[in-house]
Amino acid sequence: SKNSENSEYRFKPIGFIESPYRQKFAIPRQPGLVPSARGIIHFTEEFAHSDCVRGIEAFSHLWLTFVFHETAAQGWKPLVRPPRLGGNMRKGVFATRSTFRPNPIGLSVVELVAVEANKLIVRGLDLLHGTPILDIKPYLPYSDSVSGALGGYADANPTTGMSVSFTPAAEAAILQHQHEYPELRQLISEVLQQDPRPGYQREQSWDKEYGMHLYDFNIKWRVIANDNHVISIS
Ligand code: SAM
Repeated sequence: SKNSENSEYRFKPIGFIESPYRQKFAIPRQPGLVPSARGIIHFTEEFAHSDCVRGIEAFSHLWLTFVFHETAAQGWKPLVRPPRLGGNMRKGVFATRSTFRPNPIGLSVVELVAVEANKLIVRGLDLLHGTPILDIKPYLPYSDSVSGALGGYADANPTTGMSVSFTPAAEAAILQHQHEYPELRQLISEVLQQDPRPGYQREQSWDKEYGMHLYDFNIKWRVIANDNHVISIS
């Protein structure tokens, strides 16, 4: 049979991710940048069978394909402005990892931490809470890791050189939740070190208070010179 431009393919999620990232703001731009971010892939009933993941524990990393479900309805444009270029240079959609794509499919490599009944624990994700997972494949170092590859305009993770500090009140809140969230301090620090502020606000954010949600926490901070000062965690 002949390929048709009108072919459509339907996919259903094999599972959904439980993620500390409860809103788009402050999610790292790629996986691996916030290693302490833990997620749980919950399989739907049809795939919640140990046969489906037999042997997966031998792999340290996995590829996830998923739906950018939060922004899928917004469509796409041939040219996008990658944030890392300051938002004022345009590149072709297929030359970017933009969420706004003809088929709003995301691709992330994550570390596999543990395999439990009906779920996988992973680390280093860049996925919003509730993201539908389309597929999981093992990362194959011999083939997927390309030595000498060129990273174009995104050649390396831009180091922000930013520090993170906490008020005594914020430290107390971390201590209070230490039992349930032992990595909360680390998670907040790694997220803020990425400097989630939009590029255009970096020059003029002295008196601004920022807020983000991680798990059910509402975290507020100010930027003072090169320091993210966490004011409150509630
Ligand atoms: N690593 C993936 C890729 O290359 O396909 C995602 C890259 S994309 C630039 C990363 C951003 O996607 C995150 O910072 C977050 O704002 C956004 N994101 C994550 N999960 C999403 C979802 N379910 N719907 C819409 N946007 C999402």
